[in-house]
Amino acid sequence: MKVLVAVKRVVDFNVKVRVKSDGSGVELANVKMSINPFDEIAVEEAVRLKEKGVVSEVIAVSCGIGACQETLRTAMAIGADRGILVETDADLQPLAVAKLLKALVDKEQPQLIILGKQAIDNDCNQTGQMLAALAGRPQATFASKIELADGHATITREIDGGLETLRLALPAVVTTDLRLNEPRYASLPNIMKAKKKPLETLTPEQLGVDVAPRLTTLGTEEPPKRSGGTRVPDVAALVAKLKNEAKVI
Ligand code: AMP
Repeated sequence: MKVLVAVKRVVDFNVKVRVKSDGSGVELANVKMSINPFDEIAVEEAVRLKEKGVVSEVIAVSCGIGACQETLRTAMAIGADRGILVETDADLQPLAVAKLLKALVDKEQPQLIILGKQAIDNDCNQTGQMLAALAGRPQATFASKIELADGHATITREIDGGLETLRLALPAVVTTDLRLNEPRYASLPNIMKAKKKPLETLTPEQLGVDVAPRLTTLGTEEPPKRSGGTRVPDVAALVAKLKNEAKVI
């Protein structure tokens, strides 16, 4: 059974993001980039399924500029067998990525497609859902447990105040939540081995997909700076401030 895992190259979660001076987006020059944390969890899960003997091949896919090869090598160091880069300089929005992944699903025929629940750069939380709709396949989002048996996936998902368990016919689309697993650190030998694993490069044109953006970004702003706090002498002064200045009571 093949598993396709989508991995996005994003600004590292430790980096303090800065908005470009013209407000057209986020500064990416000289910024540390990494695999999207939810996608790292997705790769780890696919590799664990392979180690259990349920899955025979794990294919990592990334869409974007040439540097996404690094992201694919990270996925292969965790244990993915091969990588596919859909190379483009275009600004890829979730619908475009979902269409590219749908074309790869048609080509590779995986039984399971695992994505992160959201990319930490745009926080869209759309690609998995759009892919499931385009491919006409069942989906389970925010998975905290994945079990495969008898042509079905049993997925536990995190919902408000509890857990929900779903049974899906394969092929299916699953998106990962934080508690699904704790990804391993790639060992140095595995990082070296990953350099030799096959990496195929395709273009959106070869997949017959139009990736033109459908949405226009009107502006990007940093959150307002916090003004300093003040000390109040007693509860009466606090209540007066809440009433007269903040006007919240
Ligand atoms: P989003 O809908 O943008 O929040 O992204 C959700 C998930 O879709 C991510 O966690 C990835 O698994 C996948 N994804 C989004 N953009 C890309 C991309 N450019 N390349 C590969 N996978 C992507």
